[in-house]
Amino acid sequence: MAGPGSLTCIRCQGTMERGFIIDEGYGKRTVPRWVLGEAETSIWTGLKIRGKDKLEVTTYRCRRCGYLESYA
Ligand SMILES: [Zn+2]
Repeated sequence: MAGPGSLTCIRCQGTMERGFIIDEGYGKRTVPRWVLGEAETSIWTGLKIRGKDKLEVTTYRCRRCGYLESYA
C-alpha cells in the first residue's frame, strides 16, 4: 500500500487517518485501483483495463474537516 505513515490536513492542519475506499459491486467488495491513462469503455467489462498499470489506492481522511487525499 502506498502513502506516507502520517499526514497533516492541507486545509485545516487536522490529523489525517489512513483508510481506503471500497467498491461494492456484484456482491463483492474491492479496493479501487488507480489505472494509468484514459478510461476506455468496453461493452463486456464496462472499462478496458487489460495491460494497463493498476495500483491499489490508499485514502487518508481528515478527522476535523473530512478532507480526503488519495495515494497510489
Ligand atoms: Zn482538515
